Amino acid sequence: MTGKVRFRNGVEVPALGMGTWNMGDDVSLRSDEISSLQAGLDAGLRVIDTAEMYGNGRSESVVGEAIEKRRSDVFLVSKVLPSNASAKGVVRSCTDSLKRLRTDYMDLYLLHWQGSVPLEETFEAFEKLRDRGMIGSWGVSNFDTADMKEVEQTSQGENCVANQVLYSLSHRGIEFDLLAEDHDRQVVTMAYSPLGQGGGMLKDNVLAKIAQQHSTSLGPATPAQIALAWVLRQSSLIAIPKAGSKKHLLENIAAQEIRLTDDDLAALDKAFPPPKKKVPLEVI
Ligand code: NDP
Repeated sequence: MTGKVRFRNGVEVPALGMGTWNMGDDVSLRSDEISSLQAGLDAGLRVIDTAEMYGNGRSESVVGEAIEKRRSDVFLVSKVLPSNASAKGVVRSCTDSLKRLRTDYMDLYLLHWQGSVPLEETFEAFEKLRDRGMIGSWGVSNFDTADMKEVEQTSQGENCVANQVLYSLSHRGIEFDLLAEDHDRQVVTMAYSPLGQGGGMLKDNVLAKIAQQHSTSLGPATPAQIALAWVLRQSSLIAIPKAGSKKHLLENIAAQEIRLTDDDLAALDKAFPPPKKKVPLEVI
C-alpha cells in the first residue's frame, strides 16, 4: 500500500512521512502530538521532518521524546537555518538539534533556505558532519531551478539528495520544471504543506465532490485525503503532512488507498490549474 522512495545513496523510505511544524508550541497538545508520531511509526511510516527553527527547537524536542526508545524506526530529517549555515554554525546547530532530538545522528540534514553563506562552505560542513557520523546525508529546501544549478556547480553538489519544497493542489508551480529537473538529478522532492496547511483549499467544492466518490478502510473519504492522494500520485516524491492527532494521522495513512481516476484528475486540473509557464518557487 505504501509507496517507496529511494534516495541516490540507496536508502529507501515510505513516500508518506510526517511533518512537525507547530508541534510543541501548545503544551496541552504535546501528548497528542507524540501519540500521533508514534502511531505513524507503528503503522510503518519512517520519515519525520522537523527543523531547529520550529518553535525555537520545541518541535525537535517533541520529536526527541516520541522517538527516544525507537530511534532505528525513524528516518529523521532536520534543518539548519541559513543564519547558522557557516562552517562553525552548522556543527553547532547540528549538535544542538541532536541534543533536543535525543539521538546522536540524523538521517538527513537540510539547509532550510539559501541565505548569505556561500553554498560551498555549508556543503563542506555537511560533508564533515557526514564523515563524523552525525548525519547520514544532506540536502536543501526552498531551492528553485536556478538555485539547484548553483548546487550542481559546487564541489559537493552531487551529494545533495533532497530538495524540500512547497507542493499541493494550490501550489503547483514546480510541475513546470523543478519537479522533473530534480528527478533527473536524482534529487528527491519532499512536498511540504501538502494539505494547504489545513486551510481554505480543503473547503473547495470540487475536492468535496471527489471525496464523496471515494472511500477508504476508515469510511468515506475526506477532502484532505483526496488532496494528499493527489500529491502522492507523483512517484518518487515524499509528502510530509503534519497531523497533530492520531485521527488525522490514520486518515493520512488511509489516503494512500485512494486511486484517483482520470476524471478526478481532470476535474482537479480545472479547479487547480497546472502552471503554463515558469512560476518562481513559492515558499511559506
Ligand atoms: P500541512 O499541509 O501538512 O497541513 C497541516 C494542517 O492540516 C494541520 O492544521 C493539521 O491539523 C491538518 N490536517 C492534518 N491531517 C489532516 C486530515 N487528515 N484531515 C484534515 N486536516 C488535517 O501543513 P504544514 O505547513 O504543517 O506542512 C507539513 C510539514 O512540512 C510541516 O509540518 C513541516 O514539517 C514541513 N514544512 C517545511 C517547510 C520548509 O520551509 N521546508 C515550510 C512548511 C512546512 P492537526 O494538526 O489538527 O492534525
